[in-house]
Amino acid sequence: MSDIKHPATVAIVGAGLVGCLNAIYFAQRGWNVVLYEHRKDMRLPEEKINQRGRSINLAVSERGLSALRKVDMGLEEIVLGAAVPMRARMVHLGKDTQTSQAYSVHGEHINAVDRGRLNELLLNVVGDLPNVRLGFEHHLLHANLENGTMEFSVGPEKIKVFKTADLVIGTDGAYSKTRSQMMRSMRMQYSQEYIDTAYCELSMPPAKDEQGNDTYALDPNHLHIWPRHTFMLIALPNLASTFFFLFFFFLDHSFTCTLFMPFEMFESINTSEKLLEFFQENFPDSIPLIGTKRLVEDYFANQKGSLINIKTSPHNFKDKALILGDAAHAMVPFYGQGMNCGFQDVEVLHEILDKHNVLPSKHENGKIDDLEAALDEYSRVHVKDTHAICDLALYNHYEMQSAVTSVRYLARKKLEGI
Ligand code: FAD
Repeated sequence: MSDIKHPATVAIVGAGLVGCLNAIYFAQRGWNVVLYEHRKDMRLPEEKINQRGRSINLAVSERGLSALRKVDMGLEEIVLGAAVPMRARMVHLGKDTQTSQAYSVHGEHINAVDRGRLNELLLNVVGDLPNVRLGFEHHLLHANLENGTMEFSVGPEKIKVFKTADLVIGTDGAYSKTRSQMMRSMRMQYSQEYIDTAYCELSMPPAKDEQGNDTYALDPNHLHIWPRHTFMLIALPNLASTFFFLFFFFLDHSFTCTLFMPFEMFESINTSEKLLEFFQENFPDSIPLIGTKRLVEDYFANQKGSLINIKTSPHNFKDKALILGDAAHAMVPFYGQGMNCGFQDVEVLHEILDKHNVLPSKHENGKIDDLEAALDEYSRVHVKDTHAICDLALYNHYEMQSAVTSVRYLARKKLEGI
């Protein structure tokens, strides 16, 4: 092997939450990083206007925060500055019956953050790094991963462009093109499972306090759940923010609610009368907080998303390609761990690259010393954890919809002192 070394390049496909964090980690290791993203830059004013009113918020937990902390660029503080702490869940059992269940006796909590805002914050950090190039409106079509060649369709004209990299990392989500290209070259185990439940986002606007100022309609330091066994409503608080208020209308003392229910129930509730009757019967306390007009508008306008569990193994193709985040392990959202687990992938990967002392340089023949051993180890140690968390997410579907209301569950919580 020649001794002459050249800088190594990693192509990261997908500038969502996990792709951005991974780009930051690789840039810090000194690699040349190119981050390709199918969408336009979400920070452009016209893109912000497109997102107006579409607020999806996520719970960030210690698993994800740990990965942000390791970067040592103040990322954890930046993210927590945009988040609302949720210290307990509030179970809405009946019209006037609620019970608060703390997440921990030690004060540990999860944090609600707007997904778009979080992505923007990470993109801002990525955009300031000198060794990262961003390629928006680049849609991966095909890849020959053996030689690191990728074909993209670029811009509205859909011009075909070929790019190369020493390592290709797919963070392109549950329907990952990188994954499908890897599967052409290797024996990857793959399984997917759709559940019968769909979800629909509804917004709960701010209420007014006695002085007429905006305030939260519910206690903002709780994750609110209306469990009804085969379906449920949840609500997460949005930060009472100021400066991006104009573009993100719902980020001001509002809650984002998500209605989870079987597809057939969504199909059968097909008139405003049926919808209001259904809410009156099952979530009566939420109606005045959401407002009947907004409830009807959101329910009929917003998409009914499907929920999928995906497991893959291994996650790497030699030292040529790797998948992280939803591309490797999409999970149903009931454990609130999809993104957190994707962030953890990045943390674990870079710990292993450190352990193998993988340097940001390649030999003349393109080989990067010890990279294959490191990526093989990543799959060997981490894949089983991602499978376990996919299973836990499915189990928590039952826990959130049903078990939290059981007498045994409530008694156990009482014994635990929380
Ligand atoms: P994505 O966010 O899907 O990003 C993929 C990126 O790749 C996108 O920007 C996309 O445009 C781009 N892309 C796709 N295809 C291509 C291509 N061919 N070429 C170029 N770019 C491409 N997780 C939590 O941790 N906590 C929660 O509370 C939580 N709640 C959730 C609630 C709901 C209702 C849902 C549906 C999910 C929830 N999740 C939660 C899961 C979380 O949203 C995902 O796990 C997370 O967004 C995955 O991030 P990612 O970067 O891997 O993929």
